[in-house]
Amino acid sequence: MASIHCETCRRPKAACVCDRIVSYATTRRVLILQHPQERDALLGSAQILTASLPKAQIVVGLSWRNLAHALGEESVDASRWAVLFPDRETAGDHATTRRGAPLEPASLAGIVVLDGTWSKAKTLWWRNPWLNKLNRLSLTPAQPSIYGRLRAEPRREFVSTLESVAHALTLCGEPPEIQAGLERVFRTLVQRVRDAKLIPAPAHRPPRKAPPLRRAPAPRKTTP
Ligand SMILES: [Zn+2]
Repeated sequence: MASIHCETCRRPKAACVCDRIVSYATTRRVLILQHPQERDALLGSAQILTASLPKAQIVVGLSWRNLAHALGEESVDASRWAVLFPDRETAGDHATTRRGAPLEPASLAGIVVLDGTWSKAKTLWWRNPWLNKLNRLSLTPAQPSIYGRLRAEPRREFVSTLESVAHALTLCGEPPEIQAGLERVFRTLVQRVRDAKLIPAPAHRPPRKAPPLRRAPAPRKTTP
C-alpha cells in the first residue's frame, strides 16, 4: 500500500514542502533540541531548517550533560554559542552573556534553540541546566507568526522555531536572503496544511466570540 506520508519529512504528502527546499550555506551552526513529543508535529518547522541548512542539526531527547554532549562531539567552545531565550521584559533584539553583559551577535559561532510548544520547551529548559550558562539571544518578532491561527501560542513573541532561527541568523550577520527563503518555505507549509484541511483538531476551533456586552462598572472614585 502506498504511504500517504512523505518519507523525507514524514508529513502527509498533501503538506509536504520538500519540493521547495533550497540549501543555504551559513557560517553559523544551529542546534535544535527537540522534545520527543514534538517529533512528528504536522506544523513542526525544525525539519525544514535541517533540510535547508547543512550546518543545522536536530537532536531529540529530554536532557544532555552539556553542549558538546548534545552536539555529539568531544568538545566545543560553548562561549561562542548562544541560546534563544524568551525575554518579555526587554523589547528589541539583543545578545548578552549569561550575566547580562552586551555581546556582539556577529561573534557567535552557533545558536541553540528549543523546539516545541511553550510548555515542552520549558521542560527542556529545566532539564538542561547548562543552557543557563550559555550566552543569550533575545528576539522581538517584527510581525506575528506565520502560523496565524493554526497554532495557538499565547503571546506575540512565540513564533515558530524556524522563524526564530531565521531571524537570529540575520541578526548574527548571515545574508537576509536566508531568512526570507526559509520563511517562504514555511509559509508554503502553512498554506498547504490549510488547503488540505489538515489542521489538527485542538486548533481547529472557531474564533472566540466577543463576550456579551455588560454594563460598564462605575468609575472608581479617586481620593486625593
Ligand atoms: Zn516531504
